[in-house]
Amino acid sequence: MADRCRKSHAEVARRRRSELLDLAREAALADRLPDADRYGELAWRLTTRYELEASDELKQRVCRSCKAYLVPDRTARVRIQGGSVTTVCEACGRERRIPLDER
Ligand SMILES: [Zn+2]
Repeated sequence: MADRCRKSHAEVARRRRSELLDLAREAALADRLPDADRYGELAWRLTTRYELEASDELKQRVCRSCKAYLVPDRTARVRIQGGSVTTVCEACGRERRIPLDER
């Protein structure tokens, strides 16, 4: 029983997280970057609190170390370099590298 309960909580948390990431994206598009950061951070907190696996979108969009919402050319620098895509958070400088053949 407890197990099933935890599973459905995780499902609700996952759904809530994707809503938060949508809100973050909308806020970023509307130039409300502080709101985008807040939604991104909430999405990250849900992920750790419910021990969800980090979704690709979360990993691409929210800085792992400072939780800033990453917008290419605004809050993040994106480079293609040696067969991988490198995203650098402008706020804290954290780099994330994704090999191109994984996409
Ligand atoms: Zn950062």
